[in-house]
Amino acid sequence: MIRFDNVSKKYPGQTRAALRNVTLDIDTGEFVFLVGRSGSGKSTFVRLVLRELRPTRGAVLVDGRDTSGLPAWRVPKLRRQIGTVFQDFRLLPGKTVRENVAFALQVTGYSRRDIRTLVPASLEMVGLADKQDRLTDELSGGEQQRVAIARAVVNRPKILIADEPTGNLDPTTSVGIMKVLDRINRLGTTVVMATHDSTIVDQLRKRVIELDDGDLVRDQGKGTYGYQA
Ligand code: ADP
Ligand code: ADP
Repeated sequence: MIRFDNVSKKYPGQTRAALRNVTLDIDTGEFVFLVGRSGSGKSTFVRLVLRELRPTRGAVLVDGRDTSGLPAWRVPKLRRQIGTVFQDFRLLPGKTVRENVAFALQVTGYSRRDIRTLVPASLEMVGLADKQDRLTDELSGGEQQRVAIARAVVNRPKILIADEPTGNLDPTTSVGIMKVLDRINRLGTTVVMATHDSTIVDQLRKRVIELDDGDLVRDQGKGTYGYQA
């Protein structure tokens, strides 16, 4: 689903590459943790998948397509296959839970009928079926992140990228968020989660990809947060 073929990325004016010769394959349906210190290249990896950046060398393939060759008018279609969730939720203030989740579907031209079935299905999946008419500003952090997740997957994307989704949440709330991400993954969505949350990574024992200063230094099945021999 995601393939990096000998990818390097150097930002303009940078002497050291943000990613160097990274080669990896993430299959459909996988759940992958992306770990590494701040500045190790995680955001660059994510932005390459979203084609917010192009590699300086090598190729990034998403669902079999080389993203570098995509003409600009095809990029929105690529991004619709990739849901995104961030540490800071990024919800629309002054709008209800339902409106937040429906918004992306409305602007991409889904019919009202489809929106009426997709939005409640997605909110049910994240456990917020009973809060659809609440303003998101009134919800707890964990609930706001669930809204963000429902919005990210409401159009059933093939890939969900979560960048530090538990970064603002306490441990108990974080466990609930991980259950939601796990459920989405089990329903077939490929999940890539960048995180510094060692407790979660060590509990879930999924594949772990570690970046260090732009190098892929570890790619471990049923991995841990830190390296353990
Ligand atoms: P992480 O997400 O792991 O913190 P990043 O991918 O953001 O790492 O950064 C990797 C390296 O690239 C860092 O050295 C960072 O300073 C540099 N970098 C990130 N974005 C830019 C940019 N827009 N311009 C120049 N350098 C950047
Ligand atoms: P429904 O019309 O109830 O959504 P589906 O067969 O399309 O029926 O979906 C099966 C289940 O998957 C439903 O319980 C639905 O809530 C849930 N679901 C909702 N959003 C997604 C998603 N993005 N990816 C996978 N499953 C989802």
